[in-house]
Amino acid sequence: MSDQAFYSGLQQKLDTLKTEGLFKPERVLASRQGAEVVADDGRTLINMCANNYLGLSGDVETQKAAEAALQKYGYGLSSVRFICGTQTVHKELEKKLSDFLGTEDTILYAAAFDANGGVFEPLFDENDAIISDALNHASIIDGIRLCKAARYRYANNDMADLEKQLQAATEAGRRHKIIVTDGVFSMDGTIAQLDRIVALAEKYGALTMIDESHASGFMGKTGRGTHEHCGVIGRIDIITGTLGKALGGAMGGFTSGRKEVIETLRQKSRPYLFSNTLAPMIAGASLAVLDRIGKSTELRDRLHENTAYFRREIERIGFTIKPGTHPVVPVMLFDAPVAQKFAARMFELGVLLSGFFYPVVPMGQARVRVQLSAAHTREQLDKVLGAFEQAGRELGIIKAA
Ligand SMILES: *Cc1c(COP(=O)(O)O)cnc(C)c1O
Repeated sequence: MSDQAFYSGLQQKLDTLKTEGLFKPERVLASRQGAEVVADDGRTLINMCANNYLGLSGDVETQKAAEAALQKYGYGLSSVRFICGTQTVHKELEKKLSDFLGTEDTILYAAAFDANGGVFEPLFDENDAIISDALNHASIIDGIRLCKAARYRYANNDMADLEKQLQAATEAGRRHKIIVTDGVFSMDGTIAQLDRIVALAEKYGALTMIDESHASGFMGKTGRGTHEHCGVIGRIDIITGTLGKALGGAMGGFTSGRKEVIETLRQKSRPYLFSNTLAPMIAGASLAVLDRIGKSTELRDRLHENTAYFRREIERIGFTIKPGTHPVVPVMLFDAPVAQKFAARMFELGVLLSGFFYPVVPMGQARVRVQLSAAHTREQLDKVLGAFEQAGRELGIIKAA
């Protein structure tokens, strides 16, 4: 405690964040997660900013499955997997995820952040090339940094640029090449063009990897993910994803693919080797979630109905959205102060959503991001649309009807 300058330096940086409007305050909830939440001041809000796509986070069936696993397997393992931290429930979940994703084997992590952080370094070295979409998630970027492979970056979702990078890596004589992309990009709801990416990978003899955090459980006809949506099941080499969004919402991540890859990760992946086992109640609840969405597409269908309804109605009212079909709906306000004022006014009107502006999104692309859930009722969505209309008129974003 003798270096005061260290602490005052930190305080200065925090103050700067605040004056620049970049400080991220945390919203405190006094309730479970759901379509409606109760804030710590007792106000009920309709929640439009959770990754709770299937509405399973605060769901009682999910909770009961977690409780059953808690009863059977206890609270935790106090061990990494390879010492004495693997229970039958973990093996069952790995098998179930593999079946669900259409892969040979799966390895569990404490988070998708760890899955991405620990996937590159054991598999690739300085002879190889990692070709990564410019908008890939922070955990992919960090994972690539931990690995000695040459790095190539292509403009977001830009297939011509991807091909250019593949050519560059080929000309440089790289041994293995892997194309890495988010299946769905969470700021825009953009879906990666996996059919074209797979075709390019085949043309250049490259591997493919997708991060399915915003897709597993609801993209594609039966909710298997972006690879199902794009018709390339069985043709992606490595799939990472989270159990902390649609698939129950607690925490946990996975990497899935060929057995040689997964076996190598079990031997060499540092966040797996040196971090505690996923809590058995999360594994048990995740199994129940996969069972449930394997039996019926009801939740996934409801999510897509809600998404289509909201996308259609918000445009009818007069707002501009980024076109698409994903439950992430960016409502464009373009101007940062307007986006901030808008989100604050929506909060007063009982709607929780998040505003994004530079540097999180490009300059002039400020927005509020809406995320639909299967748990939203039509009545709740109509209330939200009513609040959008009111706030939009008050702030002069849309014209009076
Ligand atoms: C949320 C997210 C992650 C991190 O998931 P956690 O399981 O919460 O660590 C990784 N990748 C993408 C694309 C995400 O959206």
